[in-house]
Amino acid sequence: MPGTLSFDDLKSRVVDGTVDTVLTCLVDMQGRLMGKRFHAANFVETSYNETHCCNYLLATDLEMATPEGYASTSWQAGYGDYVMKPDLTTIRMVPWLEGTAMVLCDVLDHHTHEPVPHSPRAVLKKQIARLKALGFDAMMATELEFFLFAKSYDDIRKSGYRDLEPVSGYNEDYNIFQTTKEEGVMRPIRNHLYAAGIPIENSKGEAEAGQEELNIRYSAALDCADYHTIAKHAIKEISWQQGHAASFLPKWNKDRVGSSSHVHQSLWVDGKPAFFDPDAKHGMSELMSHYMAGLIAYAPDYTYFLAPYVNSYKRFAKGTFAPTKTVWSVDNRTAGFRLCGEASKGVRVECRIGGSDLNPYLAQAAMLAAGIKGIEDKMTLAPATTGDVYEDAKAGDIPQTLRKATETLRNSAFLREVMGDDVIDHYSRAAEWEQEEFDRVVTDWEIARGFERA
Ligand code: ADP
Repeated sequence: MPGTLSFDDLKSRVVDGTVDTVLTCLVDMQGRLMGKRFHAANFVETSYNETHCCNYLLATDLEMATPEGYASTSWQAGYGDYVMKPDLTTIRMVPWLEGTAMVLCDVLDHHTHEPVPHSPRAVLKKQIARLKALGFDAMMATELEFFLFAKSYDDIRKSGYRDLEPVSGYNEDYNIFQTTKEEGVMRPIRNHLYAAGIPIENSKGEAEAGQEELNIRYSAALDCADYHTIAKHAIKEISWQQGHAASFLPKWNKDRVGSSSHVHQSLWVDGKPAFFDPDAKHGMSELMSHYMAGLIAYAPDYTYFLAPYVNSYKRFAKGTFAPTKTVWSVDNRTAGFRLCGEASKGVRVECRIGGSDLNPYLAQAAMLAAGIKGIEDKMTLAPATTGDVYEDAKAGDIPQTLRKATETLRNSAFLREVMGDDVIDHYSRAAEWEQEEFDRVVTDWEIARGFERA
């Protein structure tokens, strides 16, 4: 049970008064928790069975706009309801909010009660089931990088997101003194999440002023995505409680390092690591080499799921630890894929392409699909690259813009086959809309450059 409370535990806590509120949440396309705050008495009496939400929640953007062009819903179709079906294995306390528990929901069609194919949990569950049919379980870990700012979200918004001031004045990579100053925020984040059943490993300072990283112990893929989503939510709420703002924008300043979400991946059979072969080079089993070959070959197809906004692509710059090439290496941080835990049971592949803004369900689903393809087709893994991969002219590029990534997503026969046309059409439209919205905007940069001199 990935949650920490059974339904019976929750009922007892409602009776003894320790829980009065149940956050009943789905995960939207952007990876956010959306839903309702139930009075706990109502939840345990009836709503634990199902509740409803407007189906635009899975056809909107960060601003809650209602773009045309989705087959699943529209103004013409009247924006009806989805069923939110609480997954009662995910009940947990929310220790940073008084008297509050949380449950995650699957999203079902209102009429058929079938899973909505493009809902992020359903997208990931489909690939987990395909992998299970081959006899494997996926163990994953997603790192969370973000920036912590001195002021609150409200103050920053009211000042037009200008003069942003990170909480620290210098690069705090692994820096214990500077991160001590941030313990007012980071300690409750670690401890509250741990108490909520999220297996926190550590937090550390990252390679920029005000940049943080939170690491969660690897777990089964669906749990990993749930943990990531809850942790990201908690980081924002706890930062807000402390009068600060946490941002997962991948690149908030062109001169600063961006934030990523590296994804560690390994396959297991009956609780034993299937990527490990003690007799093979690097301890890498043949299975792992096929998986990695698929992961690398199809990286351009699924880059959108690792980098879903215009801003995501601003992170892919040379010499910043953010990768631009579809190659792998052994413990070398300049390649898109890095083999970690060499020659040990912990041997795994880390994808370093994803930004801190990725939706972990979609990102993991797309990568599992690519790995499965590599296994099915027994794809051959090219030799590891060495040295500074940024300068390797022969290495393949990941799409460098949202426009390009949208094109490779839309035209990917592979992703259409394994994720479904409906899912790919849906997310291609989301990607197009994001670009259309950006293209309508006149940026500060254009004005400063051309106002006088054009
Ligand atoms: P580093 O510090 O080099 O990034 P860590 O040892 O901190 O590496 O591990 C990074 C992440 O990898 C952690 O979240 C950890 O739980 C995860 N991890 C460790 N072993 C595995 C594995 N076999 N499969 C997937 N993830 C793993």
